Amino acid sequence: MKAILVERAGGPEVLQLVDLPKPEPGPGQVRVRVEAAGLNFADILYVAGEYLVRTRYPTVPGMELAGVVEALGEGVEGLRVGQRVAALVGGGAFAEYALAPARSVLAVPSQMSPYEAAAFPVSYFTAYFALVTQGQARPGEWVLIQAAAGALGTAAIQVARALGLRVVALASQEEKLALCRRLGAEVTLLSTQDDLVRAVREATGGHGVDILMEVVGGDGFAQSLKMLAYRGRLLVIGSASRTLAQMRPVELMKGNQSVIGVWLTPFLNDPAALQAAQAFLTPLISSGQIRPVVGERFRLEEAARAFEFMLSRRNTGKVILEP
Ligand code: NDP
Repeated sequence: MKAILVERAGGPEVLQLVDLPKPEPGPGQVRVRVEAAGLNFADILYVAGEYLVRTRYPTVPGMELAGVVEALGEGVEGLRVGQRVAALVGGGAFAEYALAPARSVLAVPSQMSPYEAAAFPVSYFTAYFALVTQGQARPGEWVLIQAAAGALGTAAIQVARALGLRVVALASQEEKLALCRRLGAEVTLLSTQDDLVRAVREATGGHGVDILMEVVGGDGFAQSLKMLAYRGRLLVIGSASRTLAQMRPVELMKGNQSVIGVWLTPFLNDPAALQAAQAFLTPLISSGQIRPVVGERFRLEEAARAFEFMLSRRNTGKVILEP
């Protein structure tokens, strides 16, 4: 089968298209014929050796996919060969076939395309865990979403609207902000503009934001803290700037504010949290109230171009790789 193999840390140049044997499902696993895989910013960090966990080379990257179940490992129940699924996988999605743990496999509603299905797991589960589980969002609160036209951003706007939150969306280009407005953002601001803190304060009637989804980090982090309302929660979700942020924890005392970490991976071993997320997201997907935004699509052979595209900040919604 065709797969993307990475043998050393680096950027798009280290992605190689190779032929590998089809993987055999072990106990509790299924083999999926991949129709589409989602590209996440985390894949870029993982390939570069800059992710939260150490990268073990050689590796086939890719953490989410959609496709058709082709083989069941020992002890797998409730799934059948031929079923259309989406899945969160520990890696290996950038290939024609991939293994998925049965417990992280989701049935795909018939109205969803493989591209939409592949765009769903990482972004929507993260948006839910961020806003609900960690952020404790309440209807009517203001949420600020950074990189709001990206994959996580567009998912977060939709989840926030479903929760009755008021959305301030930030992005680096006007076209991206137009997409955010179409998805229901009430306030849209260019992340590049001067005095963003004042703009956010003004747009929220002086209140500030109750929840801030921080995905950029670096120098902007201090600015994010200044946008928080009294008892505001800053959710640390990513570091797209790839530079360290600094803060003085005592500053949080002034407004009884919190800084809270959010990472999808540990939630995958938390059955109660996963079940709550599924119970929330499934009816919204089935009714069409939330619908993944699919961005550009690339062939598996073009994985390096897909990485470059995301790094150039041109993507809206989820970038998809097709084997
Ligand atoms: P996106 O589709 O949002 O693409 C990345 C976006 O980040 C860009 O389009 C750009 O939007 C913005 N960005 C800001 N600064 C930079 C920079 N220096 N270089 C490149 N892009 C930059 O990607 P994802 O949805 O995959 O991820 C978004 C963020 O959320 C990442 O930080 C990621 O690590 C994080 N994440 C965290 C998860 C978790 O479990 N904690 C799970 C999923 C995502 P713009 O140009 O508009 O600023």
